[in-house]
Parts: sequence; structure tokens; C-alpha cells
Amino acid sequence: MKSLKVLQHPLSSSSNQLVILENDVQNSQPRFKDKVAALGMFPLKPVDVEIFQVNVGKMCNQVCKHCHVDAGPDRKEIMTRETMELCLDVLKTSAIKTVDLTGGAPEMNPDFRWFVEEIKTLGKHIIVRCNLTIIRANKRFHDLPDFFKKHQIEIVSSLPSFTQDRTDRQRGDGVFDDSIKALQLLNSVGYGVEGTGLILNLVYNPAGAFLPPDQNALELEYKAELGKRYGISFNHLFAITNMPISRYLEYLLNSGNYDQYMEKLVGAFNPAAVKNVMCRNTISVSWDGYIYDCDFNQMLDLKVSCQDSQHLSTFHAASISTRNIILKQHCYGCTAGAGSSCGGAVAG
Ligand code: SF4
Ligand code: SF4
Repeated sequence: MKSLKVLQHPLSSSSNQLVILENDVQNSQPRFKDKVAALGMFPLKPVDVEIFQVNVGKMCNQVCKHCHVDAGPDRKEIMTRETMELCLDVLKTSAIKTVDLTGGAPEMNPDFRWFVEEIKTLGKHIIVRCNLTIIRANKRFHDLPDFFKKHQIEIVSSLPSFTQDRTDRQRGDGVFDDSIKALQLLNSVGYGVEGTGLILNLVYNPAGAFLPPDQNALELEYKAELGKRYGISFNHLFAITNMPISRYLEYLLNSGNYDQYMEKLVGAFNPAAVKNVMCRNTISVSWDGYIYDCDFNQMLDLKVSCQDSQHLSTFHAASISTRNIILKQHCYGCTAGAGSSCGGAVAG
């Protein structure tokens, strides 16, 4: 399977995706920003920036069907060490406590380990969004559990189901078995094991055009099933809503589910989720150093609204912390039901 970009698919263009999403407004769906305005929260403003999320490249060993990054082995965009140095310059002078490394498979960036070590010298907490299979993909990645442990990295990993067929359907043949083996390896060095302080969180996202079920109930079910079947333990489960962009948008359109899914997201708008959407405490940096409100706006090429701080080379903390967050129709994915973010549900 190839990425939309390599296939030269029309949906590999962010502007084509935005045209489809904005068409909803003409089709009488309420504008997301009007919903936010009705709460007296428009323009939406950040609170403190707590998380600096860095996409270190779009290269990945998997080609998951729902991927909002359109990542895969055929994507060559990779953050250079020079751009990583710009990230470090920002981090050195900021109070941001957490750096969240994502991709693609972030570990495939040749400077990944160097970057982690440099961030640690600044005393920041690091989250790595590890797809699990990378640990077993090649000999040079086999020691990743020990590397993660050495740097006390928090691991967040997708596992859309505790069954093989559902996981492989979404993430590719053989992914479930490799993920289970990788989780066992992480457990063996202490990840997800009570008392070690080594955090291993899993991510669930729906296999089809529906919203995630209750996060707490699902966490209990995952813990029981993964424990019973494979002896696996972990800390928390994050239930994430699929965003109607990139490859998931392609799935929705191809399967004839798009209109119904958007109606579902709009109908489930939860005002209580708005104050906790992740763009309020996170900024997102792309492989080439541009700055976005969140990973989703990054994939839609919607750079932060403050013109003087759209790239790391001209980063102004004051502009970033007072900017207006860019809101479009895909934002309904963050506020439907219990809400959704890179850390799971955002409202009870
Ligand atoms: S592992 Fe993550 S980045 Fe890679 S294709 Fe799957 S969803 Fe995308
Ligand atoms: S999609 Fe991004 S900008 Fe929109 S509400 Fe979600 S986190 Fe905020």
C-alpha cells in the first residue's frame, strides 16, 4: 500500500481536503467557529503552552488505513539535525515541560536518539509516539525499550483492538502479532508495570465511521483482555476520535460514510470539551520547522495565525501565546462526545 502523496491522489492536497470540509457549511452544517462563538470563546485562545509536539518525519514502517499523516515507507520528509537544533533553541528559553515526539515512526529519523538526549539535558519530559512494530522491524531498533527506559521516556502506542483481525485490518497484516511481542518486551524492562514509573499508554481509535466508546470502560476491558490473553500490562488507554482528514477522509468518502460521519461529529458537539482542546496547551512543529496549532492543522497546512512566528527560526513566545487558534470543520472531531486529543478524552 502506498501513501496518497506517492499515488498523487487528489486528497494528498490539503487544499482539496479543506474544500471538502468547508463544503459542509454550504450544505447547512453549522460552522465550528460559530459553535465556539456561542460559548463566548471565539476567537479561541491558548492557555499556557505546556506541550511542544514535534513531527520528526513522515517516514513510517507501516501504512495504516486511517493515518492522518499519510505516513509510510515511501515518505521521505525527515527533520534534519539543523531543524532539531532550532527546536532545542526554543526549548532552552521556554518553560515548556513536555516534548512529544511523533511521526511517522519517529525512531526512523537517523537523529532521533541524538535529539532525545539533547532534550533530556534540558530537563524536559519526553513522550514518544511509538507504533510498537518499529521495535521489531530491524535489528537496529531492538534495543529501543532499553533506550526508552534509560531516558525515562513516556511511551504512547496505538493498538486499535485486543484482537488480531481488527488491528490488522486497520494497521496492516502482521501488525497485531508484532505489537503484542513489542508490548511484552516493553513490559519486560518495566514499562507499564506498577511501581517502576515507566509509563506505557495505549491508544484506541474506532475501526469504522463511529465515535469511540467510553474510555474508562474500554480501558478496563483492554486491561482484562490483554492481561488474560498475553500477560500484558499498561497504564492508561486513550480513546481517540478519527479526524476526517487525509487517509481517514479518503476512507469516509470511498465508503460513502462521509456525510453521516460529519453529522455524527456535529450532532455530538460537547461544549464542555471546547475548553480542553489540545491546541490550547500544545504547539505542533512540522519536520521542516513550521509551527501549527495542532497536528491536524499541520496536516491541513494551516500554520499558526501569527505571521511573525510561523517558523522556529522566528519563534516569538509572546505571539504564540496570544495567537488566535485556527478553527475549521475538522475541529468537530475534537469536541464530539467525550472529546478527543493526543491524550484521549478531554471531557467527562
Ligand atoms: S504507525 Fe502511525 S504514523 Fe505510521 S502509518 Fe500508522 S498511524 Fe500513520
Ligand atoms: S483540530 Fe486542532 S485546532 Fe481544531 S480544535 Fe482540534 S486541536 Fe484545536
